Amino acid sequence: MKRRLIGLWIVLLVAVPVIPQQKTPLYITGGTLIDGKGGPPLPQAVVIVDGERITVVGRQSALKIPPGAKIIDATGKYLLPGLIDTHVHLEYVGLSDVGELPAVWDSPDKIKELIMINARLDLIGGITTVRDLGSTALVLQVRDEINAGKIAGPRILAAGMQLVKTTPGAAKVGMFLDYDGPDDARAKVRRLASSRVDLIKIRLTHQRAVPSLEEVRAIVDEAHKLGLRATVHTDVPADDLVRLAVDAGADGIEHNAPLRLKDDALLGEIARKGMTVMAGSGEFYVQRFEDAGLGDPIGQAAIRLFPDGVVSALRQGAAVLRKQTAQMKASGWDAEQVRAGFIRETDRARKAGVLLIFGTDAGAFLAIHGEEYKALYGETRMGSTAMEAILMATRDAAKALGKEREIGTVEAGRLADLIIVEADPLGDLRNLRNLYRVIKGGVVYDPAGLLQSRSQEK
Ligand SMILES: [Zn+2]
Repeated sequence: MKRRLIGLWIVLLVAVPVIPQQKTPLYITGGTLIDGKGGPPLPQAVVIVDGERITVVGRQSALKIPPGAKIIDATGKYLLPGLIDTHVHLEYVGLSDVGELPAVWDSPDKIKELIMINARLDLIGGITTVRDLGSTALVLQVRDEINAGKIAGPRILAAGMQLVKTTPGAAKVGMFLDYDGPDDARAKVRRLASSRVDLIKIRLTHQRAVPSLEEVRAIVDEAHKLGLRATVHTDVPADDLVRLAVDAGADGIEHNAPLRLKDDALLGEIARKGMTVMAGSGEFYVQRFEDAGLGDPIGQAAIRLFPDGVVSALRQGAAVLRKQTAQMKASGWDAEQVRAGFIRETDRARKAGVLLIFGTDAGAFLAIHGEEYKALYGETRMGSTAMEAILMATRDAAKALGKEREIGTVEAGRLADLIIVEADPLGDLRNLRNLYRVIKGGVVYDPAGLLQSRSQEK
């Protein structure tokens, strides 16, 4: 029964039409613009969108709005670049153990449905671009369907399977692709490229065999030859694995091991090489800040769009997490002390010139797609100002993706990826949960409207 319902409402999800591309230019008027370049906000701004691009950014007083123009009145609201989450897993819903949900996860069709929901949740949450760092071919299919305008979702850059050094006796993992030796490593990069991934993800962990420098270099070199970036997962902390990633010439490091380095010189090297560092993860922040005015760890959009079985499993997960948190606190774990450490580390990395970018690991345990604003708010509790956090998720995230000329800032010529927020995010980043409109490539979405399809089935 449940399955038939899922089948029914996924048809509805697919069938909901997006608002078609603007034929006449769209004027977004009267809002305060935070353009993603770090300068002071521009009050009474006008942004003109023609087709998929921004054509004009200016002051309302300096522009004549033609009669009959298509207008979004953003008076009293705030306009920002669409947010970018540089580290997600669209294939996961926020549960640590997918085995908990056999009925939902037992076929590619159902996994694909959940990927589509995750994509929609991200868009509802103001995330107009995600970088998926570990998935099977299903995410690539969903990416292509979003690009073709068949379904609603963010821009997706997907790494596909993660490259992992062959480890005799290690468990098989669907999203891992093994390699052994530099030649095989290159062959696997070419295989991934021919499956049309957007970048390469390398997994360096002490839970598996650690590859040689020659092997990691081969991967990065082959990726670069093919025009793909290569980013590296490392354990935290793990100075040796960070060293390997740096020496191999990787473009970025996921998770915060670089912030924990004992070796200051290595941190300086990361900065000099222009590598990007994902500063934290949603899992970490949500766990520690569930009492920071963020409310229910499972947001309303997720409750609305996920099948009931997923929601109840998430609730069980949240209960386990609450218990763990209480136990940690009882055994002396002190959130303030952890936070103080993070503030020091963030500060040290910025002083060294490291480009910190925003990534949440959405899909990992209780890091739910579309609730990225919680992790972004978390950054402001970990040593970043609200403006710095916004830059991490806009301009600087776009740099990490190599898309800085297309997205990440509100400027003439850029793709029209914008969010309109009801209240000032610089005052409190939790205001990012109250979105008035999400615009991707000039297509305007009403977040409330994106939730409707599920309710039709109910
Ligand atoms: Zn991840």
